[in-house]
Amino acid sequence: MKYSNTIIIGSGAAAMGALLGLKRSKPLILDVGFDYKGKTSLQNKNINKSQRVKNLKINSMNNKFATASNQELIKFKKTNFKGVVSYALGGLANLWGGGVYRFDNNDLKNFPINYNDLRKYYDFLSKKIFKIQGKSDCLKKFLKEENMYDNLKLQGLSNEIIQNYYCNKKKINNHNFYLGKSRIALNKKEPRKLKYTSVFDNQSLVNEIFNPKKIIKNIIKKKKLTYKKNILVKSFKQIGNNIIVKTKNLKLNKIEKFKCKRLILGSGTINTTQIVLSSVKAYNKNLNFLDNVTITIPIFAKNNIKNADIYKNNLCLINLVNSTKNKKVNYFGSFFGVPKISILERFIKIKKKIYSKNYLLERISKNLGLLVIFFPSKKNLISLDENNRVNINMTNNKKYKNELLKILKLIKILKLKTYKFFTNINNNGNGIHYAGTLPMKYKPKKFQCDKWGKLHGYNNVYIVDGSNLTNLPAKNLTYTIMANAMRIASNLR
Ligand SMILES: Cc1cc2nc3c(=O)[nH]c(=O)nc-3n(C[C@H](O)[C@H](O)[C@H](O)COP(=O)(O)OP(=O)(O)OC[C@H]3O[C@@H](n4cnc5c(N)ncnc54)[C@H](O)[C@@H]3O)c2cc1C
Repeated sequence: MKYSNTIIIGSGAAAMGALLGLKRSKPLILDVGFDYKGKTSLQNKNINKSQRVKNLKINSMNNKFATASNQELIKFKKTNFKGVVSYALGGLANLWGGGVYRFDNNDLKNFPINYNDLRKYYDFLSKKIFKIQGKSDCLKKFLKEENMYDNLKLQGLSNEIIQNYYCNKKKINNHNFYLGKSRIALNKKEPRKLKYTSVFDNQSLVNEIFNPKKIIKNIIKKKKLTYKKNILVKSFKQIGNNIIVKTKNLKLNKIEKFKCKRLILGSGTINTTQIVLSSVKAYNKNLNFLDNVTITIPIFAKNNIKNADIYKNNLCLINLVNSTKNKKVNYFGSFFGVPKISILERFIKIKKKIYSKNYLLERISKNLGLLVIFFPSKKNLISLDENNRVNINMTNNKKYKNELLKILKLIKILKLKTYKFFTNINNNGNGIHYAGTLPMKYKPKKFQCDKWGKLHGYNNVYIVDGSNLTNLPAKNLTYTIMANAMRIASNLR
């Protein structure tokens, strides 16, 4: 059995945070680790237009590596959950939008840590690992970010929205809404300006958006870790002072065991929870499962807009905050410039004929955007059955209708149009901000961890992904996952 002092499971944002935090140790990473080596849809001139449009979807050709084997490697018992897991090198962040927002002390209420515990790790990430597109604007008091670099030029619909905001700022603020530029993690070494011009770009493969896989590949190159891919971790067991990790080698189709002094679980909330429950055969034990409830609202400009947003395609351009008191973010929104057809497809049963009417699509697309609202998570349940199937039971989302009315009013003040029947209170799991199954607590019990991510009942098992978040506020969580993973790992001697 191979021995390593420290084993990390996964190679996503959480694992990257842990790696950056570890001192002096040369860990072994066990990862399924699918990777993408082909051309992106944008680079591949042989792909025709309608094929490229299909490629914008999460499960599209070029994105498939990030969600590959969802069906084979994990089984969901219920269909009322429509989420995704990743077995890719870099994990779900191969598909993410790079939205990075610090949790403040309001967000960290009930956590056994506060903002000052995370601050230096947020600072490290935003200074040394990626640069954050953003601006010192109306959102600064809610989002705390200091190290920003404004390189997102708004034009077209997004420019219209922000201009209308500043014209009606007082009124809008009185309705408890605030708007500003989005905060997006960009790679440090990419060109100074976002070159994000094609509506047919594939979001996930746009070079400018930060992807943890780049950092991990770099550390592998410098031989500062051992990386073993095609390894699906099944469970672990503490024997004396060691942890035995049971895995399946997917290439050789055989069971392999690894031994370590300490185990760091960063395989994404759903996978980590499955591994932990399966390790103690805790079948049908319900744990809390968090995910932001999302509402999507298509928006249309009232007047014809001359220029299209050059940053169409799923890049978040503007954020919206709803806050009533004490800088507390009640809920959070992202305005996206929207690719031509995919948005229409989502809301209207689009007739094939319209694809050929380019002039019409051109006109509609300039005037069309999408507002996605994130609400704090409610408590849902996750469990595992005897056949290792994951059962996720989500609560009903209907109670957001009142807030929706307020947002529709805001849209009117911003001189935009929307149609209520296009609005979607989304499928469960649509937020893809999974968290909270093994939460950090002051006094942890079984299936909880302490403030240092140490799982109750084990000497040396640490949780570093979203599973350890105590609550899920209405903010994108990955920046906090990274900072917290770094904090936990830097405490390990
Ligand atoms: C379309 C989209 C947009 C998003 N946009 C944003 C955004 O703008 N901002 C934001 O904060 N978040 C966003 N997210 C969410 C964000 O991507 C995730 O929160 C984040 O990537 C989670 O990182 P993780 O490392 O915890 O887990 P994952 O990314 O799920 O990584 C899991 C890793 O573990 C490995 N693994 C899994 N199971 C096993 C196993 N059993 N054995 C071995 N290895 C295993 C996988 O190969 C992978 O490397 C978005 C997600 C999607 C899909």
